[in-house]
Amino acid sequence: MAPSLVWFKRDLRLHDHAALTQAAAMGPVLCLYVIEPEVWAADDAANQHYQFLLESLAELAVALQRRGGHLHVASGDLTAILSDLYAQVPFAHLYSHEETGNGVTYRRDQAVACWCGEHGVAWHETPQFGVVRRLSGRDKWQRKWEEHVRLPCLPVPHLEFSAWPLPQSRAPVSEQLGLDPHDPPQRQRGGRRQGIAVLQSFLFDRSGQYRGGISSPLSAPTACSRLSPYLALGALSLREIVHATRKQLAALPADASRRKAGLTGFTSRLYWHCHFIQKLESEPELEFRNLHQGYDGLRENDWNQRHFDALMAGRTGWPLVDACVEMLRQTGWLNFRMRAMLVSVAAYPLWLHWRPVGLWLARQFLDYEPGIHWSQMQMQSGTTGINVPRIYNPIKQAHDHDPHGHFVRRWLPAMRKVPDAWLFEPWRMPADLQARYGVVVGEDIAMPLVDLELATRQAKEKLFGLRKLPEIRAGQAAIVEKHGSRGRHRDRLSNAPAVDSGQLTLGF
Ligand SMILES: Cc1cc2nc3c(=O)[nH]c(=O)nc-3n(C[C@H](O)[C@H](O)[C@H](O)COP(=O)(O)OP(=O)(O)OC[C@H]3O[C@@H](n4cnc5c(N)ncnc54)[C@H](O)[C@@H]3O)c2cc1C
Repeated sequence: MAPSLVWFKRDLRLHDHAALTQAAAMGPVLCLYVIEPEVWAADDAANQHYQFLLESLAELAVALQRRGGHLHVASGDLTAILSDLYAQVPFAHLYSHEETGNGVTYRRDQAVACWCGEHGVAWHETPQFGVVRRLSGRDKWQRKWEEHVRLPCLPVPHLEFSAWPLPQSRAPVSEQLGLDPHDPPQRQRGGRRQGIAVLQSFLFDRSGQYRGGISSPLSAPTACSRLSPYLALGALSLREIVHATRKQLAALPADASRRKAGLTGFTSRLYWHCHFIQKLESEPELEFRNLHQGYDGLRENDWNQRHFDALMAGRTGWPLVDACVEMLRQTGWLNFRMRAMLVSVAAYPLWLHWRPVGLWLARQFLDYEPGIHWSQMQMQSGTTGINVPRIYNPIKQAHDHDPHGHFVRRWLPAMRKVPDAWLFEPWRMPADLQARYGVVVGEDIAMPLVDLELATRQAKEKLFGLRKLPEIRAGQAAIVEKHGSRGRHRDRLSNAPAVDSGQLTLGF
């Protein structure tokens, strides 16, 4: 009997793996993962993603070996590899999960669909998230998400393997893929075992810190679940995380209100995960173009390379911003609030278009997930037309979320001796105090690139000037209809204005 081919993508697990389960029900399977040079040559790819992938693949390969099977890791063009394989074993069925990826993987999936058509291979794609392909309207989306997550988790199926007909090749090293070698030394490690350990420590221990702990960059690394990279590569399924969370919620005693609030807030984020990916699924162009085209030309023609270089180097002169850039470089992770603040600083006072900033951040974030990332980049830059732009003042954020300067001092060692009074605005410090505290503004920390208040006001005038135009307002309804959230998570989807009061304005 001809085997079925299981193509692993961003779903590196055996548990709750619908594609694998369906293929196994048909008979023997061949398991394939393809490292595609074109994907790794794209501007959103980074070595940390690649190393995390290799760690995850190594564990998946062992899990298959334990079941008497084999994961074939090939490198090259996907359809060329399918052709090589097909020449040896003319398989009739290809199984995979649906992927809402970037433009490169979208085009590749179209090429795979053509290849399957030409070779008479049936390609069975199954959703792995609550994201709906060819969605006709948003009204029933929340119900569909609930239906998806409520289905029982699939156990690892009984697997019968077919002998792999091609010689095993070595995974390329990152230099061969042209990747910059930087790999954050403190980043999370890949693989399902790590993912499960992170999930358990969150559910049974850390979730009590979630409410109230996720906004400060000091508490967030332990208060947040830290599951994002495991979701992005599919070491854990979204459904199994929802099930485990709901089970733990039900088991908590009535007086465990803090932990219950934490787990409830966390569950809402799992819903947002799919809500945002759905936007890219329904409108792949949002990776490249303003969601509301009335904003075309807003920033595109004002590109300021000096601002961008300073931002990437952590030399904006605003200590909280520069500390966040350094934390990203060392860990590959930052909490939501600080990500939003970084983008806000880039988009308003520095007046940078979201696309190059987003590519740079995609490489910084270990958990890069195109659907969430590009939707958030546009939302925080004010180009969706449907979200009230949120402009974060990095000095106010520092006072609110790092009141004693522990975070800034940790990531910017040059600032360690600077007293609290000057820490968040060191450029105001007289020269004799700079000498006393061992920091020279302009050298150890940059002078701010622009006058924050003035530049933010000018940015706001440009943006809000456009927002008032009747033609811009007219375009909003269609975007709300296609992408706006409905239902009970709605109020929280605008990123918690209640908690952020003061940030809708400049907040100076
Ligand atoms: C500009 C910008 C870019 C972002 N890019 C990404 C990205 O590429 N990949 C990514 O996973 N998240 C992204 N986020 C959302 C969020 O910052 C991260 O999901 C979160 O910080 C990951 O940490 P965690 O798993 O501990 O989050 P938790 O708070 O524990 O949340 C659990 C899960 O819910 C989802 N989630 C949480 N917050 C959001 C949100 N605001 N929107 C959608 N889903 C959410 C994620 O899958 C996350 O793993 C971005 C946010 C901003 C502002």
